[in-house]
Amino acid sequence: MVVSHCRRRQDLKTNIKSWAQKNSLWLFHVNAASCNGCDIEFVASLTPRYDIERLGAQLVPSPRHADVLVVTGTVNPLMRERLKRIYEQIPEPKYVVALGACAGGGGVMKGCYNVSHGVDKVIPVDLFIPGCPPRPEAIIYGLMKLRDKISGGSHE
Ligand code: SF4
Repeated sequence: MVVSHCRRRQDLKTNIKSWAQKNSLWLFHVNAASCNGCDIEFVASLTPRYDIERLGAQLVPSPRHADVLVVTGTVNPLMRERLKRIYEQIPEPKYVVALGACAGGGGVMKGCYNVSHGVDKVIPVDLFIPGCPPRPEAIIYGLMKLRDKISGGSHE
């Protein structure tokens, strides 16, 4: 009886852990040479007005704690190697979001000599959120779509 009770408790702990891993996105943000427009909108999505934390997502201070790397900006040459190094520090499974037009393909900087024309030219990207800058509603919508993709279901 005691053994079965312990096993059920262990199963419950495992289920809760796997549910939390699939449903709560821990985000690490990197500004890879953006104008700060996208960053301000991203920060707004974390503030009480939009409050993405109510949906289980939160900002973390280290890439080693993160599930999702959120990148803004054009990724200039100075940021290329740094971005790769940060990406490598995130434990698997990991996901990358290119936030804004610059991160998506160069945006207003497209054609300039010192931009990478998209985060995907440097590291693999799982989600592009377009806009210059995207509004917090679009950021939250995109991140929840990513969460649904990861968990294999819809939360709508
Ligand atoms: S997409 Fe627009 S707002 Fe975002 S970094 Fe580029 S220029 Fe700035």
